Amino acid sequence: MNYLVTGAAGYIGSHTVRELLARGARRVVAVDSLVRGHRGAIEALERVADGRLRFVHLDLRDRAALAALLAEERPDAVLHFAAFTLVGESVAHPAMYWSCGVGGTSSLLEAMRAAGTERMVFSSTAATYGAPERMPIAEDTPQVPVNPYGASKLACEAIIRGEVDAARAEGRAFGATMLRYFNVAGCASDGLLGEDHTPETHLVPSALQAALGQRPALQLFGTDYPTPDGTCIRDYVHVEDLATAHVDALQALHPHRCDAFNVGIGHGFSVREVFAECERVVGRPIPVQVAARRAGDPPVLLSDPARIMRELGWSPRHRTLTPMVESAWRWMQANPGGYPKP
Ligand code: UDP
Repeated sequence: MNYLVTGAAGYIGSHTVRELLARGARRVVAVDSLVRGHRGAIEALERVADGRLRFVHLDLRDRAALAALLAEERPDAVLHFAAFTLVGESVAHPAMYWSCGVGGTSSLLEAMRAAGTERMVFSSTAATYGAPERMPIAEDTPQVPVNPYGASKLACEAIIRGEVDAARAEGRAFGATMLRYFNVAGCASDGLLGEDHTPETHLVPSALQAALGQRPALQLFGTDYPTPDGTCIRDYVHVEDLATAHVDALQALHPHRCDAFNVGIGHGFSVREVFAECERVVGRPIPVQVAARRAGDPPVLLSDPARIMRELGWSPRHRTLTPMVESAWRWMQANPGGYPKP
């Protein structure tokens, strides 16, 4: 099959391109605006692609260029990752999140319709659920986002669902699957790809940056939450398991259907537990500082991944923090400045 992957130079997109290539993709068209993605990730993928990868530098909101690309490539399926992904930034710059999310997704759907591309896997998020009281979160938990990031992703889900409904009414075989991720950590186990965000705000790479002396200390955002050790609890999935979930979802995708699956391991770790694992893997104390709560952080977010396990047969290979932290640490030691910057 031929695939088009948006956001292919980003963290999850690049790991998923690699999984597609490993599972025998005939051709992958990797699209990225390189606003947050890295040319270095594409170069790494090219080294393992045997000529099956084409990179196209494009912002999805460039409707004409995107439509021309899909008309030329006529991919069998699209995996749509391209987005801004930081909750705090979305609160400060809501229009940027709505424009990129809704603008990019609708432009992509129009181009797909014109090109006759009938399968889509969409990168959604647990942030579409907001801060529900009942844990774990199943897919039928009401989606009440509490920030523009979650709200714009939920709007994208609605647009995609509408396209599936329209296709069904017209007898076209379009189908889509949304994957709602919880927390993601780790890197390719052989060190080919990594996690490189500027600024880095995620817990594991932030702790490891503190270990490398690239920041003065890891800030623990709140130690007075109503949890056993006072810090927030999150459900972490290894990025390679998440990549596998995308390809499994594509293979199981039904025409005329729009399904949503949570992707998590169904088990939580507190911020202190993650930090302790980072110190264990690094082998020395990491500077740490207690800080105020970060706005918008719910105390606990835990997935119920039963549906994806039951319906797609997906199950995470990694159920502990160790392989996530170890692979992230290896990549950061080998690439202390992240991917080479132009
Ligand atoms: N966190 C922290 N210090 C940091 C980064 C994150 O204490 O430097 C906490 C954060 O408050 C949250 C958890 O770690 O409770 C996971 O945050 P992350 O940004 O990795 O993912 P999110 O849950 O926001 O998607």
